[in-house]
Amino acid sequence: MEKKKFQFSTAAVDYFFSGSFTKLKEVVDPKKAILITDENIYNNHTAKFKNWDVIVLKPGEQYKVQATVDAVIDQLIEMGADRTATLVGVGGGVITDLTGYIASIYMRGISFGFVPTTILALVDASIGGKNGIDVGIYKNMAGTIRQPAFILHDLAFLNTLPAEEWKSGFAEIIKHASIKDVAMFKQLEENSIAAFQKKKQLIADLVKRNALIKTKVVQQDEFEKGDRKLLNFGHTLGHALENQYELTHGEAISIGMAYAANLSQSINGFKQADRVISLLEKYQLPTFAQFNKDKVISVLSKDKKKVKDSIQFILLEKVGKAVIQPISIDQIYQTLA
Ligand code: ADP
Ligand code: ZN
Repeated sequence: MEKKKFQFSTAAVDYFFSGSFTKLKEVVDPKKAILITDENIYNNHTAKFKNWDVIVLKPGEQYKVQATVDAVIDQLIEMGADRTATLVGVGGGVITDLTGYIASIYMRGISFGFVPTTILALVDASIGGKNGIDVGIYKNMAGTIRQPAFILHDLAFLNTLPAEEWKSGFAEIIKHASIKDVAMFKQLEENSIAAFQKKKQLIADLVKRNALIKTKVVQQDEFEKGDRKLLNFGHTLGHALENQYELTHGEAISIGMAYAANLSQSINGFKQADRVISLLEKYQLPTFAQFNKDKVISVLSKDKKKVKDSIQFILLEKVGKAVIQPISIDQIYQTLA
């Protein structure tokens, strides 16, 4: 395992790249750890969980809600978990969000770590300390910012990751490339999901590169006063669509990125909307959807990133360089197809 320590304002986080789940016992005391995972991961990797205390949740974004938090807290009390316990979220973004959020409020906060098992969680959700739950159709409406003690990568989990989840994760990778890394954008253009699945080293390098991009952005702006907002590229519209239309997160933000790329072209002199859209298509992501404008605008107007009547929108200046620009809700309404 390659161990690297990253300093955030409130805590340092140990990252274990190219790690192995069997080494988890060297990272956290099995007597103090409670693992939280979901049925799909547990059923596909049951042997790995032997000798650990495990809470197994139902899979899916619809369980990223307060009722699950309440149920897990009841179980923790029943298991006798005290302030010295460490919660370890083993799973995708839903599990890492729930685990980080529960650990942040249980007994006013206990320690936690992550073993991300989806591309999306490896390159995005597990990093940066933001953890929360959905409230109705509003994504991540309640949550905390608090860093995990560690993030351990075991890419062997990806062997059982469904095709849909690969695509969803690549949407975040394309996001990182679009806002921060033109060289990676080119690499993505030259490759495909199949190519990354075939070559272990290629996917390991890509996962690490993306984890580092996100980490660096968060380190520079942990509480989202500036640059961290760039990570919302595609997410403003994406989040408004996601819970309303049963899209995966990746599909929703892909549509959001295509819209933002077109908007960048029409109002910001960006010249490569087609290039962004082609890359999304290459990774089998949707770039257009039929939706109810009024419903979407009503959700957008409750966006956390709204200031007065404007939304801090992320636009591209060129591939690899994003900017923050306030756009009025009216203007968004006009430009929605
Ligand atoms: P994310 O927010 O990272 O997209 P979720 O936590 O919603 O992910 O997980 C997506 C789906 O993939 C869920 O159904 C989950 O149970 C399943 N899943 C996660 N990791 C794996 C894995 N390594 N193998 C098989 N299924 C997995
Ligand atoms: Zn996202």
